[in-house]
Amino acid sequence: MKFYLKHEQFDKLQLYIKNILNLYYEDAYLFEGEGANFIDINIESNEDMTVTTTMTVDGQVYTQTANRDENDKRAMKQALGETLIEILTAHTGISQSWGTLTGIRPLKLYHKYKNAGHSDEETKAILKRDYLIHDEKLDLMEQIVKTQLKAIPDLHELQQEVSIYIGIPFCPTKCAYCTFPAYAIQVHKNDVPEFLVGLLYEIEHIAQFLTIHNIKVTSIYFGGGTPTSITADDLKLLLEAVYHHFDMTHVREITVEAGRPDTIDQDTLNVLNEFNIDRISINPQSFTDETLKAIGRHHSVQETIDKFKMSRAHNMNNINMDLIIGLPNETRNEVMHSLEETKQLNPESLTVHTLSFKTASEMTRNKSKYPVAARDEIIYMMNLTKQFAKENDYIPYYLYRQKNILGNLENIGYSKQGEASLYNILIMEEVQTIIGLGCGASSKLIHPKTRKIENYLNPKDPKSYNKTYKDYTHQKIKKLQLLYTT
Ligand code: SF4
Repeated sequence: MKFYLKHEQFDKLQLYIKNILNLYYEDAYLFEGEGANFIDINIESNEDMTVTTTMTVDGQVYTQTANRDENDKRAMKQALGETLIEILTAHTGISQSWGTLTGIRPLKLYHKYKNAGHSDEETKAILKRDYLIHDEKLDLMEQIVKTQLKAIPDLHELQQEVSIYIGIPFCPTKCAYCTFPAYAIQVHKNDVPEFLVGLLYEIEHIAQFLTIHNIKVTSIYFGGGTPTSITADDLKLLLEAVYHHFDMTHVREITVEAGRPDTIDQDTLNVLNEFNIDRISINPQSFTDETLKAIGRHHSVQETIDKFKMSRAHNMNNINMDLIIGLPNETRNEVMHSLEETKQLNPESLTVHTLSFKTASEMTRNKSKYPVAARDEIIYMMNLTKQFAKENDYIPYYLYRQKNILGNLENIGYSKQGEASLYNILIMEEVQTIIGLGCGASSKLIHPKTRKIENYLNPKDPKSYNKTYKDYTHQKIKKLQLLYTT
């Protein structure tokens, strides 16, 4: 669907308006100039701010006005967002439970108002007034923030500490929806030894920097790819390096993604036992074999069940499972089946994703090959998972949204009481620096005082990483020096 915005407003507002349009139309395009679906915005700013938007959509003309007491850029966007939401909801009949929020981390706003001294009631009233967030989402936000603060009571005092993310860029095969660095291990196994040389170099030098400057490590997360794709011996080498170089005294949690069941074996579990790691992720995504085949998972449902049981027998006491809602050809029946199977296995935590069509994925490139359910069905299926969580004592503890997510919903992490992943909370709420080591690992550098955020990305493919890891390590150290020593 094509929309037009006049020249003087295009540069300043196009991104924001496009994000709002995408809440309603998957294929919304915004052009500069005049055309049939035209958006005309009038902004009056004195002491306060008044935005009047007149919009022609499919031949119908709508006008809406919104006011804010302040007259800054944020107030202008809030008021503009409100007018657009009112118009587009009236036109399409689609209601937006997240209101004008288009960002990835809605919980950050809630924390912000709470930290400024507002009660839960006041915080919810502000978010409802300024962003038009619906009560159901406000209650969810309140519940999650309370759970987060129970899991990490000093959540807002951890800015002087860091967490570590270690990225292993290999998987058995590439899933159709994936945009992570994930290279087929059978094809790339000769790259592993050299990759590990680079990773061990990063571990040694970053750990040294942290020790010299007395910076504590709160949590460590092994992700990727699938870290358990490499051999048990290589994983052991890596864990030995981590324990040898980092000061582990203050580390509260270590997690290893073992997402693909086809990478889990006795040897790997023995290595995890050796290092007292009992928190892993085994991700079924779906319990329907045809779906797993369609998305290129290369493992069966039975293998998920067998490897889960094998992990339990090896004292993996905190297992997360990921499910995806809206996978190709799946209806509420497949989702109900997945939830039933999940119930039998009883993992400590469950992360429910809504399928997102990420730009670079195979699924997005060949969208017609992957038919997915309609918006209402997606919402219904998500509600089934919420109901399941409630009935089975899973408490929501983190939440994030993505662009191009089906039904404009959210991804929710649930856990049983006391089993929440600290790392997931720390990264989602952006309370401290996360240092990314390894291929494609993204560092989120957060200034402990100003809270300014800079992202720094290691090379995605093993060959480039192997050539440049020293430069990247030292660049990162320079940036960390600026954050923690000035
Ligand atoms: S298991 Fe995860 S990282 Fe690996 S290909 Fe699938 S989605 Fe990507």
